[in-house]
Amino acid sequence: MAVHKIAVIGGDGIGPEVIEHAIRAAEAAARKYDGAELQWTRLPWSTAYYKQHGRMLPADGWEQLTAYEAILFGAVGDPSVPDKVTVHELLLPMRRKYDQYVNLRPAYLFAGVDCPLKNKKPGDIDMLVYRENTEGEYAPVGGNLYPGTENQIAVQTGVFTWKGCERILRAAFEAAQKRPRKKLTSITKSNAQVYGLGLWDDVYNAVRKDYPDVTSNSLLVDAAAMDFVRQPEVFDVVVASNLFGDILTDLSAAVAGSIGLASSANINPTKKFPSMFEPVHGSAPDIAGKGIANPLAAVLSAALMLDHLGLAKSAQGVRDAVAKVLAEGKVRTRDLDKTSTHTTTDMGDAVVAAV
Ligand code: ATP
Ligand code: MG
Repeated sequence: MAVHKIAVIGGDGIGPEVIEHAIRAAEAAARKYDGAELQWTRLPWSTAYYKQHGRMLPADGWEQLTAYEAILFGAVGDPSVPDKVTVHELLLPMRRKYDQYVNLRPAYLFAGVDCPLKNKKPGDIDMLVYRENTEGEYAPVGGNLYPGTENQIAVQTGVFTWKGCERILRAAFEAAQKRPRKKLTSITKSNAQVYGLGLWDDVYNAVRKDYPDVTSNSLLVDAAAMDFVRQPEVFDVVVASNLFGDILTDLSAAVAGSIGLASSANINPTKKFPSMFEPVHGSAPDIAGKGIANPLAAVLSAALMLDHLGLAKSAQGVRDAVAKVLAEGKVRTRDLDKTSTHTTTDMGDAVVAAV
């Protein structure tokens, strides 16, 4: 039996609460559909760990993680410690250190979930957003002149490289090729940001020639924001720079019903380094410890992990189980139904039973 080694970082707040249910669902599906065994190593790296050791992870932490095929991540962040420590010492460096240049964020409207848009049917929203995750507008390049004075000048530079654009665009085209609709939309604002996103457009026009079976178009981000709300059904695979992908995926998560359902993957497609799978939501300190968080975003992130491990049948098994539980509507956490009294565990149990 194939054994896959996975590191688990539950982190803070609702992170550890939801991640246990992701583990249960993934394990049940992997055994049933692919006869695969998942071996989990729980690492206690979190704000509590920081308070004890003065750092978010041990000195050899980054080296330790390279022994795993994948990392299943809950969330980090606690009101008692600045994000500059929690997020910036653990979450953000991981994407760059392990070259997880694909940030994949699917948005799917499940049956049984209230959509904030009128007249949308289940499956009408079914898109995969490929967000560039290592450069672009979030490159740590810039500085300040005359800080703290009225003359202060801040410079924030976007960094776009041919290689960086090409690899995310290729990953997105490859994904589009495997989907029934074979459609791709490239998002930029190259009419205003002529250098960086102008390069993006050049690369897009070069790369699309290699995928003649994919119908592709280029769209400005402002128009895309409007269409994500007005006609989200037109989107299949969407590929965007770091900043635009970040903003558009909060929008796509909202139109698909709840942040409690939004999953994500941070992928190093070369598999030279581990990839990381995490719900889009944060540690949600306002509901932490109450046992009411929706574990489905974490569960669906684990499904993306199963895909990455080559366990496609198991991944689909998890997604089908989630779809079944949502469609039946017997168990609903409070983000899906304000009047509900169901717990995180009720939802986790329902998914495992459905698997
Ligand atoms: P971050 O900065 O890490 O994104 P945040 O404080 O912006 O964190 P979240 O922690 O995601 O955001 O919380 C935003 C809101 O969504 C909160 O009111 C939280 O309770 C709610 N929320 C987040 N995740 C879930 C979940 N899994 N189930 C139910 N509600 C959730
Ligand atoms: Mg947030």
